[in-house]
Amino acid sequence: MRSYFSCQDSLLTLHPRHPREPLAVIIFQKQFAIALKLGAYPHSLLKVPATTLSLRARPRAVCKQCGFRVPMLKAWVHYGPPVCPMDQVLMEKHGEWD
Ligand SMILES: [Zn+2]
Repeated sequence: MRSYFSCQDSLLTLHPRHPREPLAVIIFQKQFAIALKLGAYPHSLLKVPATTLSLRARPRAVCKQCGFRVPMLKAWVHYGPPVCPMDQVLMEKHGEWD
C-alpha cells in the first residue's frame, strides 16, 4: 500500500477518505484554514534583493552536429569544451570562456 504523501502521489490523486476530491483541493483547503488561523502578516512586505545572473556571458558548449547545448561551470572551463555524448566530437565554445 502506498503512503499518503509518497513521491509517486500526484496532486490529482484522490484521497482514500474523500474519494470525490483530488488531493490538491484537500491540501489547499487545509492550507487556507491554517492561513485563516494565522491571521494577517505582522510585518511589512519582505523585500529580498534577487541576484540576477547574466545568461548571455555564461560559458556554454554547443555540438555542431546535433545542437546539444550544455552550460559550463566557470570552475571547469580551463579543461576546454566537452565531447558530445551523442556524436563523440569536440563541442564549440559559446559565451564567455575567459
Ligand atoms: Zn552532438
